[in-house]
Amino acid sequence: MLTAKLRRKISPRVINGHPWVFANEIDTVDSAAQDGDVVTLVSHDGRFVGQGYYNSQSQIRLRLLTRDSKAVINEEYFQDQIARCWSYRKQLGYTENCRLVFGEADGIPQLIIDKFNDHFVIQTLALGIDRWKPAIVAALEKIFQPKGIYERNDVPVRELEGLSQQKGFLSAPFDTSIKIQENGLSFHVDLDKGQKTGYFLDQQDNRRAIQHIVRDAEVLGAFTYTGTFEVHAAHYGARSVLGLDISASAVEMANANAALNGLADRCRFETANAFDVLKSWGKEGKSYDVVMLDPPAFTKSRETIQKAITGYKEINLRGMKLVRPGGFLVTSSCTNLIQPELFLQIIEMAAKDARRKIRQVTYQTQSADHPIVWGQENTQYLKFLIVQVQ
Ligand code: SAH
Repeated sequence: MLTAKLRRKISPRVINGHPWVFANEIDTVDSAAQDGDVVTLVSHDGRFVGQGYYNSQSQIRLRLLTRDSKAVINEEYFQDQIARCWSYRKQLGYTENCRLVFGEADGIPQLIIDKFNDHFVIQTLALGIDRWKPAIVAALEKIFQPKGIYERNDVPVRELEGLSQQKGFLSAPFDTSIKIQENGLSFHVDLDKGQKTGYFLDQQDNRRAIQHIVRDAEVLGAFTYTGTFEVHAAHYGARSVLGLDISASAVEMANANAALNGLADRCRFETANAFDVLKSWGKEGKSYDVVMLDPPAFTKSRETIQKAITGYKEINLRGMKLVRPGGFLVTSSCTNLIQPELFLQIIEMAAKDARRKIRQVTYQTQSADHPIVWGQENTQYLKFLIVQVQ
């Protein structure tokens, strides 16, 4: 048994249940422990704390998998864990598409598995879990008999773990352009070239939240990616919908998604930089009944968080200015670096600068297949707000 020992004077975070152990919290590690090995973590006085994967190259030295001293970490263990994740999703009502495994929030640090009906996309973002890829694939084959499994490990964060970026088939090759159903609508998803794992499953409940406010409305969407919110808006009875994204390939697929649902007459997409376009349209006095914004994170690190705050403030200000009095702003933020309270403050500042009064319609977060674990702040990352702009 390989062991790592905690320092005496550290914060109670790990003892209280958080799965991460930082380099400066560890006193000693068995010299035989290799990067990626599962080691047993003990307290400074030798009491069992948990078992997790070790990596000397990462600032997060240890990521805990279990607090059970008897658990045997082998192929069967991962199969049981993935089966447990699936039964939880089924309990919540998921049948076709869901995030099947959401890393730390499911007790399998840095493993992401998205289920698109019969197709699966996986990311192994730490060395400790990357090693178990064959076991994870075997588990998926056994539980689901999938039509295909694809790896989207083309993610820079892997380099912090000493891992290379890569993508490709983990099953027999298959056509990576697939179609999924969501809220009764169909969407093209490109598992190979799409952003992240191909599709943003975390907004699926929020897309339904626009149902009533878009009826007969003239809608502008920005940061649309493949147009999911906008196609929903047209489906829910918007008079016209225009969507903007900076990525030409996203816009192409968004237009294809509108056509796929027979909504191309009312819903179209254009390639544009939303910051520029919203600014100039505001100056020209253009207006819409509903403006929807779903910008990217703007920053990946705490050091440059001000950049994200400025970006969110700016785009929400510009969006709000385009909303007709009595219309609605639908706005999201997907980075865990901006906590919910700060996000709401940013919107408040934007409203003040725009000299508009806002009334909250709903405030929501990510869908339940991306669990929020209390005590692990970074599992709550998505903020979704609808306000009436008066
Ligand atoms: N609403 C989408 C997800 C949006 S992801 C969904 O639910 O599927 C954020 C999108 O913002 C990406 O597609 C990215 O291409 C786009 N983007 C980033 N910067 C942009 C900019 N300056 N102007 C317009 N789009 C931008």
